[in-house]
Amino acid sequence: CGIVGYIGTQTATDILIGGLERLEYRGYDSAGIATVLEGKIECTRAKGKLHNLREKLEREVNPSQIGIGHTRWATHGKPEEHNAHPHMDAGGRIAVVQNGIIENYQELREELSDKGYQFVSETDTEVIPHLIAHLLPQNPQYDDFLQAMQKAIHRLNGAFAIAVICADYPDEIIVARNQAPLIIGFGQGEFFCASDVTAVVSHTHAVLSLENGEIARLTPLGVEVYDFDLKRLRKLPRTLDWNL
Ligand code: GLU
Repeated sequence: CGIVGYIGTQTATDILIGGLERLEYRGYDSAGIATVLEGKIECTRAKGKLHNLREKLEREVNPSQIGIGHTRWATHGKPEEHNAHPHMDAGGRIAVVQNGIIENYQELREELSDKGYQFVSETDTEVIPHLIAHLLPQNPQYDDFLQAMQKAIHRLNGAFAIAVICADYPDEIIVARNQAPLIIGFGQGEFFCASDVTAVVSHTHAVLSLENGEIARLTPLGVEVYDFDLKRLRKLPRTLDWNL
C-alpha cells in the first residue's frame, strides 16, 4: 500500500518511520522496514499500527543510512507479521517491498520452489527476492544487482511498484514501476523514494515521478533512470508547488 525508501547521510530508520506515518492515511494492516547495517540486512516487521513497529525498533540502535519501508494492505496472504513486507531471500541478502499484485506469482513460486527456494510467506511479493537472488551471480560485481533486478522485472506480470536493497550493495536502492505510483525525491546528498509525494515533502520539494516501465538506481551520489531494457533515460526532477 505505502512505500518509502531513503539513502543519504541521516539515520534511515527515523526517516522511514516518518515517511510511513505520512502514508498512514491510506490504511494498512502491518508495516516493516529493512536497512543495511554492517554488511547485513536488518529487517523489522510488525502487525497492526506503526506504534508496534516503532516499539520493536526502539530496542536497538541502528545508525544505517539506507533503507526501505512499507505499510501493507494485504491482497495475498493474511495480515500477519510473516506476510508483512519487507520480504527477503533465504540467504537474507535481499529485501523487497511491493505495492500492487504480481499476477503470475503462483507459477513463479512453483518454478522457484522446484529449484530449491523455500518460501516462508503466503504473499505474491515473496517471489521477487527469491527471483533476484537466483539471478544474482555468485560473486556480484558492479551493475549485477541492477541487471538481476531488470531480469526479474521481465518475469513479473501485474501492476506493481517495487523497492529493493541488497546487503552486497550497501550504497544502492533499486526501484521499478509498472502501473502503480512511485516517486523519487532529490535532496542534498540524499535521495528518497515513495509511493506518494506526501512521504517526502517535509525533506524535499524536488521530485521526479517514475513512469510505467522505468527502473531507477538511487545512490548517495545521485539517481539514474532506465527503461526496462536498461537504456539510460535523461530525466530531471521538478519542483513541487506545495504549501504545507
Ligand atoms: N500484494 C502485496 C501483498 O499482499 C502488496 C499489497 C500492498 O500493496 O500493500 O503483500
